[in-house]
Amino acid sequence: MSTRQKLTLTLSIIFLIFLIVMVILITFNFRDSGINSAQKRAMLTAEVVKSGLTAHMVNGMMDKRAYFLNQIENIDNVSALWIARSPSVIKQFGEGFNNEIARDAIDKAVLNSGEIQKEMTETTTKSTMRMTIPFKATAFGDTNCLSCHNAKEGEVLGAISIILDVSDVRGSSFSTVGYATIAIAILMFFIILTINRYFKPYIKIFYSIKDVMMAAYDGNYSKRVDGGDLKESKSVANMLNSLLEKLQKVFLEIDKKVYIFVQNRGEEISKDPLVNINNTIDQLSEIYKFKQTIEHDKELEDIYKRLAYIFKNKFDLEDFSIIEADTFSGLKNVVYSVNGCHCEVEKGECRADRINSMVDSTIFESSCSKFNQPNLNYLCIPYSISNELNLIISIVTKTEKESLRVRSLVNLIEDYIATAQPAIVSKKLMQILNKMARVDQLTGMYNRKYLDEFTETTIPQALRTNTPYGVLMIDIDFFKMINDTYGHDVGDEGIRVVSRVIKESIRSSDIAIRYGGEEFIVLLHNCDKNFIKEVAEKIRTNFAKQKISAGTESFSKTLSIGTVMFPQDSKSIWKCIKYADMSLYYAKEHGRNQVISFDKSIIKDDSMQDSF
Ligand code: GH3
Ligand code: MG
Ligand code: MG
Repeated sequence: MSTRQKLTLTLSIIFLIFLIVMVILITFNFRDSGINSAQKRAMLTAEVVKSGLTAHMVNGMMDKRAYFLNQIENIDNVSALWIARSPSVIKQFGEGFNNEIARDAIDKAVLNSGEIQKEMTETTTKSTMRMTIPFKATAFGDTNCLSCHNAKEGEVLGAISIILDVSDVRGSSFSTVGYATIAIAILMFFIILTINRYFKPYIKIFYSIKDVMMAAYDGNYSKRVDGGDLKESKSVANMLNSLLEKLQKVFLEIDKKVYIFVQNRGEEISKDPLVNINNTIDQLSEIYKFKQTIEHDKELEDIYKRLAYIFKNKFDLEDFSIIEADTFSGLKNVVYSVNGCHCEVEKGECRADRINSMVDSTIFESSCSKFNQPNLNYLCIPYSISNELNLIISIVTKTEKESLRVRSLVNLIEDYIATAQPAIVSKKLMQILNKMARVDQLTGMYNRKYLDEFTETTIPQALRTNTPYGVLMIDIDFFKMINDTYGHDVGDEGIRVVSRVIKESIRSSDIAIRYGGEEFIVLLHNCDKNFIKEVAEKIRTNFAKQKISAGTESFSKTLSIGTVMFPQDSKSIWKCIKYADMSLYYAKEHGRNQVISFDKSIIKDDSMQDSF
């Protein structure tokens, strides 16, 4: 129900109650005054009858009283008139010619008590007033009743009853009430109409404000308040409209400005700019926190773990892998995986990386031949981090519904990757610099700096776990001659050939180091005396077979190798290296192109002998 209707209803109820009260009051008032006037008329008539009868009596014309009484009875509104004699009068003069005896209980009561009795009778069609007044004996006044009547002073001699038709009183009270009701109803109608007309513009603006506010609550600030024709409502509408105008403009501006900071809207775009602003700020705040955190991460691995944490906890991804793809070498490296990578990406190419766009098995089944879980769906998204590095996020799902959900997250994931990008690039650069500081540029082998670190970190651990290492010290025989004969470049090539032969002869767990100019150290992980000899011989013989090109010519060279067993020969790795060097020196001294395993007899230095 509208406010206007409520107002009309309330006013109508108030006026109706007012009308009813008025009608009741008027009705009772009129009835009372009607009854009073009827009583007066009855009393007056009775007094007239009393006086008339006294006059008849005094003049000795009592036998002519019938004419008088008939005349009275014929007066308008007099329905009946009769006289009742008291028992003493009946006794003295008889009942009279018209049976003037008590007709009913009222007559008797009046004759007994001498009190006036009144009775009002109302039917649906007629209202009558009955009045019975006593006729008392008195010796005083104009007439001495006691002169004729055998009665005492004040004794009741008779009663005069008169019935008056007072229906006209009721009729006039009804019509008065009717006219009053109509008048009040018309008045009420006009009052309600006036009030309605007066309030209409206010109610109209109130509804307009309500509509506009409801739209604004739902995010639509484009609606405007209709001020109507009233001066006051127009000014209220203008004020509200200019406020709405301002809000609409400012919210859209803020939304646009804030939106620039995130690449993608996470939530669905709302009609309400405030909701959008709130969502964008939430997103920004989370991304900012993420950015702050990864800036303090030490290792690239930590950043990947942090990304994985977001994927797991924010995006509820259950099974995914983060893969690095080197754009130059084409090598792929799984840097993080929840349940292990479900494809053989490290062994070959990655479709998402090659075509540089998302690969989604729910859109095209078996689009990637490397994926080895036929019952699962995959969604692989490539992200370019730098010229040298792409990241591939491979997300695996069990249902198509989940794939659909993941697809809706792709843009958000991109936001986090974009945020992590500078940190990944700088960490990657650090990794490259660190590697470069530990890798020899000519051969790609580790350098002495790496050996220092390795001996500090891995060797104590090897001692604790009793893991043996075979130490090889390798040197090219008569290398100086290459430089002297063919030049430095050919000498460099000789060094590269040795390094290649060494790398080809060892396992991935072994470490090859360029120790000096054309000297190399190899640390064979977890090996015994036979194995060390075997590997050393392999290196020596393989190198001897190599042809080193020098312009149109080519030549071969040999190697001398000294070997030591760590920790069997010494628990100090540096001492082992020294012993390997001594063994190498021994090999050089005893003909070169040979492998010499360390033996304490090799030691010439007395101090070394002691410590051995
Ligand atoms: P030996 O059989 O006794 O080892 O004789 P050698 O001539 O090989 O003697 P030595 O091992 O002492 O020779 C080292 C030479 O290696 C000295 C230096 O000119 C050369 N050399 C060191 N580093 C490099 C390098 O990076 N490139 C080239 N071309 N030569 C180098
Ligand atoms: Mg040499
Ligand atoms: Mg040398």
